[in-house]
Amino acid sequence: MEQLQNLYRLQQVELKLCAWQEKLKNLPVYAAFTQAKAEVMRAKEAVEALQEKFTTQQRQVKKLEYNLQETEAKEQDLQKELFGDNKTAREVQQLEKKAKILRQNFLQQEEELIASLEVTEALAEALTQARQNYQKLRKDLQAVQQQGKREIRQIKAKIKELQAEKLRLEALIPQELKTEYQRLRSHFQGKPLAEVKNGICSGCYVAIPLSINSRLLAQKMIYCENCGRLLVFFPEKEDD
Ligand SMILES: [Zn+2]
Repeated sequence: MEQLQNLYRLQQVELKLCAWQEKLKNLPVYAAFTQAKAEVMRAKEAVEALQEKFTTQQRQVKKLEYNLQETEAKEQDLQKELFGDNKTAREVQQLEKKAKILRQNFLQQEEELIASLEVTEALAEALTQARQNYQKLRKDLQAVQQQGKREIRQIKAKIKELQAEKLRLEALIPQELKTEYQRLRSHFQGKPLAEVKNGICSGCYVAIPLSINSRLLAQKMIYCENCGRLLVFFPEKEDD
C-alpha cells in the first residue's frame, strides 16, 4: 500500500505548486516594470515640455529678426531722407535725432536677438539630451519587459509540470484518502501529512511510540498523538 506515500508526495507537489503560484503573483519584475514605465512617462513629458519651449523660442527669434529688419529698413529710409535735397537745418537736426534713436533701437534689438539665439541653442541641446534619455529609458523598459516575460514563462512551465505531476498522483490515490487529506489540509496550513523520520513526527518533532512505529510499517492510517497529523513512513529512506 503505497497510497499514503503517494498522498504525501501529492502534498509536497501541492506545496511547491502553491509556492510557485505565489512567486508568480509577486515577482519583483512587476514592480521594476511599473517603475521603469513611470520613468519613461516622465522622460516623455520632459521631451514634450522642452519641445514646446523650443517652438515658442523659435517663434520669438523669428519675431526679433523681423523687428530688426524693420528697424534696419527704417534706418535706410531715414538715411535717404537725410541726404535728400531742400532740408532746413532744423529738419536735418530732427532727422538726425530720429536716426540716433533708430540706431539705439537697432543695437538693442540686435542684443535681444543674440540673447534669444543663445537660449534657443541651449534649448536645442537640452531637447536632444531629453530625447536621448527618453530613448534609453524606453530600451530599459523593453529589457525589463523581456526579462519579466522570460521569468513568467519559466515559472509557468514549472507550474505546468507540477500540475501534471499532481494529476498523475491524484489518479493513484483512492477517493476516501483524498477526501481525508482535503479535510485536514486547512487545519495544518496545507501540511496534514507528516513524515516519520528516526521515530520522530516531522510535523511536531515529538517521538512516536514504538508500538505505533511498527503499525506504520504495516502502512496503516495512523495519526500523530501529539499534533494530529496523518503519519507517513518511507522505509526506503530510513537510512537518511
Ligand atoms: Zn506530530
